[in-house]
Amino acid sequence: MHPCSANSPAARLLESTLLTPADDCSHFVLMAIETIGEAFALGWRVMVRCSHSREDGAHSKSSRECTYRKELDMETLVCTRGRAFPLSRLESRLRCPRCGGRNLVVLYQPPANTTAVRHP
Ligand SMILES: [Zn+2]
Repeated sequence: MHPCSANSPAARLLESTLLTPADDCSHFVLMAIETIGEAFALGWRVMVRCSHSREDGAHSKSSRECTYRKELDMETLVCTRGRAFPLSRLESRLRCPRCGGRNLVVLYQPPANTTAVRHP
């Protein structure tokens, strides 16, 4: 069991969609930002949400869906993964600390323009 499967088809698919502008794109703002180092420099926030849900009725004891949510510390991510770590890989590396599932959805939140931005 290898938790770090960098060559998984899902990771490759994510990367390819990042590199090539899709036709129906633009609901995600990832086009200009590809690494967590860039996102950190721009003050982005990262939220993760567990999307684990029962796939079948096999595990009836844990039938409740996991609703784990957490804001990740972008600075810690950069420290542990490195500035050049691609945003597209982050999702596949994460696991839910509550249910152990790997169905975490990563939500990137660019800083809003309306909030008080201090210009030097
Ligand atoms: Zn979970």
